[in-house]
Amino acid sequence: MVEIKNLTKNFPIDEGIINTIFGQKTKYVHAVDNVTFSIKKGEVLGLAGESGSGKSTIGKLLLKLYEKSSGDIFYKNQNITNLTFNELRKLREKIQIVFQDPDASLNPRLSVGETIMDPLIIHNKYKKEERKQKVLDMMEKVGLSPPELLYDKYPHQLSGGQSQRVVLSRALITDPDFIVADEPIAAADVSIRAKIIELMKNLKNEFDLTYLFITHDLATAKYLCDRIAILYLGKIVEIGSNSEVFENPIHPYTKALLEAVPVPDPKYRRQEPLPKGEIPDAINPPPGCFYHPRCPYAMEICRKKQPELKEIITDHKVACHLND
Ligand code: SF4
Repeated sequence: MVEIKNLTKNFPIDEGIINTIFGQKTKYVHAVDNVTFSIKKGEVLGLAGESGSGKSTIGKLLLKLYEKSSGDIFYKNQNITNLTFNELRKLREKIQIVFQDPDASLNPRLSVGETIMDPLIIHNKYKKEERKQKVLDMMEKVGLSPPELLYDKYPHQLSGGQSQRVVLSRALITDPDFIVADEPIAAADVSIRAKIIELMKNLKNEFDLTYLFITHDLATAKYLCDRIAILYLGKIVEIGSNSEVFENPIHPYTKALLEAVPVPDPKYRRQEPLPKGEIPDAINPPPGCFYHPRCPYAMEICRKKQPELKEIITDHKVACHLND
């Protein structure tokens, strides 16, 4: 369904007129660094990592909300990196995004009905008189009921769960086949997180969807995803099937992330140390393995040479010198 090859995104930093006059070299935030992966039809690929690992940037690059610095993105074997305006508009009918904060992604001046209908107007889908019924049907499917009553409500009159369901309806109304879900439950109350994830699972089956599920919550990723990619400072450090990554994690960072998942057992003691400090500055990433300043297993080679992402077991790739 989707293939990303050597995708890189660097954001230039505006350092002001003085530095420009004195010819200072532009600095860059290295948000995504040579990332390659693919997603099969009907699959849920989880993209997990700490804040600042570049996972949301990859989602936005996929939707062409950001322009890549280099690399290629293929959707159903078509390279979508250099599309014309009309081709891009057509593509956005089929690739949709669900942002993490529903309150920030809903227009407070549009009612629920207007919000969900908006993409139908933009993409000129269905006859004008059919659109309201399509919206009501979609509201019913995502559990916004009774739809007739909620149709004219405004975002401030909705609960957190209802707002997220509106965002999901708006994403699904154009009949997409690929959804980038960017931390869709991060802003939701704990009580409704499970319901939203369950709903996403059901919608995936009903609408035959493929998901890129961006999250920092590995427990949720384990529940929903078929495969997981662990991202660190813009690079994939481990990628594999759900069972491989969760039951046989190989990269020290993946192990540490999994150790950080709370276990509801007071007697449980951690097997792996948590990573020291914080994710390094993406403007000046460390030499060698980006994880070496925090890695308890760092060796001399780790400080000099970047490890390659290599297949260790079938469909399980890891970037770590411990496997050389
Ligand atoms: Fe740790 Fe070295 Fe592996 Fe990086 S390459 S994760 S520093 S052991």
